Formats: sequence, structure tokens, C-alpha cells
Amino acid sequence: MSRVIGHQAILRELRALAMSEDPPHALLFSGPDGTGRTALAIEYALLLNCERLHPSVTAGASLFADEALSELGTRNSELGTPCGECRPCRLITEGVHPDIITLGPGDTLCRPRDGESHPKHPDSRDIRICQVRGLIDLAARFPFEARYRTIIIDPADRLYRDGVAAHTILKTLEEPPGHTVFCLITAAPEALLETIISRCRRIDVRPVAKAEVLAGLLERGVDPSLAERCAEQSRGRPGRAIAFAAQPDLMGDRSRMLERCARVAGESVGERFRYANDLAERFRKDRNPVLAEVDAWEAFWEERLRRGADGGANEGLPAVLEALRAITQVREDLMVNVIPRTAFELMLLSFPRVTLDVSREEEPAAYA
Ligand SMILES: [Zn+2]
Ligand SMILES: [Zn+2]
Repeated sequence: MSRVIGHQAILRELRALAMSEDPPHALLFSGPDGTGRTALAIEYALLLNCERLHPSVTAGASLFADEALSELGTRNSELGTPCGECRPCRLITEGVHPDIITLGPGDTLCRPRDGESHPKHPDSRDIRICQVRGLIDLAARFPFEARYRTIIIDPADRLYRDGVAAHTILKTLEEPPGHTVFCLITAAPEALLETIISRCRRIDVRPVAKAEVLAGLLERGVDPSLAERCAEQSRGRPGRAIAFAAQPDLMGDRSRMLERCARVAGESVGERFRYANDLAERFRKDRNPVLAEVDAWEAFWEERLRRGADGGANEGLPAVLEALRAITQVREDLMVNVIPRTAFELMLLSFPRVTLDVSREEEPAAYA
């Protein structure tokens, strides 16, 4: 079974990079959620660490690999893919390799300043400076057993809000320790510091053709008629298709939510205020369904973004990007002390009005 659905060109690129003498130490996987960015980062970790692709190389020794070894590596690269059977392959695939670490918002790697302590923060929305401190610490040490420790930062745009964290990461990306690679993952590369982007090898991860998603699901043993529906509804996002296959109910909820988004996006300011109020009311009673609705809005605008690129959406790229930023903002706002109703109103006002008729299109500024 292929671990990654679709993305053949990217896989070829990652293979070439991983087998080269000096593999890049910072990769930026940029693309919408669910397209396979994390699966590709894991694949890079496998390519760097599979014992059959890099025979007789023990932990740490790769730094001093001689010519013979790198020749062997080059030959093996033609054989292709990670074996999936050696110890590193198995541990990485099972998600239990001690040197493959995912850093996201929360507690992972939290390391308070020397002599200080602070309460745990499993629900924080940002990757905090204490985590970056832990990351830098970790990166300075040799891996436990990996040829290359792999640190996946997901989502990397969560570093952005904390200027100090972003700056500290930057210094590490500038002079990366030889035995560590960073895989940054983001749906919003424009939210990253330009200086971070410029230090990364950028891999643009686009939605996958429906036929490939379908083939991937069938390969995973999903019932053909269910697989067909999941592939259709996932809109090129294999990760979402796999989630749908595991829990088909999600598809119904999601398509209802997307229909609602489309309706609200075409409505007047007054209607939008009513909807914002409704969201706030429901949020007060139960946050999770409303947060799922915010996710649906994100999917809605990302879809418009794609259609815009194909000439099919008329509200314009800047307006759609603004809408996506407003969604990031509302999530932030809901975590802190902003009154939910105000937060939702601001979000709705930042959305452009979607019309099928270009002549009736309104500028988002008209709502301000
Ligand atoms: Zn292997
Ligand atoms: Zn902390």
C-alpha cells in the first residue's frame, strides 16, 4: 500500500533530496489541510532514515559518511522507496519513533526559562516561546537513534504571532544542527515571516486528482461505493477522504454546513448579523459544533480560492485571503476574552459577498 495518496512528482523530488549528499534541513510543505502535507513530511523522514536505503549507517555516523557510503546511497535511491520493514521504518510509520517529533500548539517540548516554571498549557493556540526553547535544546543534542531527527512544525504559521519564537526558530534554521531536519507545515504561507520561507525548501502541496484519491481509498480496502462518495466530497484532500471513509456521517454534516456557508455568503449585511448572533448563541451552549462550522467556512473560502485560480470565483483573490485571515482571527478571538458575538460579527463582515452575477458584486469595504 502506498503511504501517500497521489503527489508522485513531490515523492520523486523528496527521494532525490533525501538521497543527495547534503539533504535540505528545512522543508516547507505548503497547501490546504488534508492534502497530505504531513504524510509527505513523514515520507521524508522515512527516506532519510530507512536502513535499507542507507545501509550500515548507524546513528550520528551519517555526518561523516564517506564517499563509498554516499555512492551506495545514490545506487539505492534508484531502488526507490523506504522498505517499510526495518526498525526505523516501522517506528516512524507507527508514530512512535523517539526522534520524529511533531511540534504544534500545546505542551510539547515546553521548557520554561531557567529557574522559572509555568502551568501546563495543553489548549494554547500558539506555538509558544517555551516550546521553541525546548525545540532548540533538543536540536542541539544528538538523536537517540535516527540518522536524521525530524521535527515537524504543524502548523508553522502558529509561530508567527510570537515574534520572539519566530526569531529564535529563524536562528536555528540559519545554522541547522547537522543531524536534525525541520518540516514546516502550513496552509497560510503568507502568514510566515519571509525570512523563514527563504530558508526553507518549499514544497507546494496541491489537491490530488479525484481518481487518485479514489484509488488510494480502494487500496485501503474501502467499499467501492463509499470510496466513490468520499473521493467526491473530499475535493482533492486525501486526508479528509480517509476521515470520511472512517466516519461517513461527517460527509452529511459537512455538505449541509457548506450549503449554509454558500447561502450566508450571498446574503445582505443584516442577514449576516443575524447569522453571527445565531453562531454566538449556539457557541455559548456548545462550542464544538460551532468550531466545526468555522472549519466549514475555511473549506468554503479555500474552495473559492481554488475556483478563483481557475477563473471561476468573482470576489477576487485579496478578498478571499482576507476571509481566510478573518477565520484565523476568529479562532484566536474565541480563545481569549473577545465577546463571541463581536468576534463572529467581525468575521462575517470580513467576508466578501459572493454572487454569481459579477455586476451585483459588492466590495467588502462597503460593509466596514
Ligand atoms: Zn526501511
Ligand atoms: Zn510552556
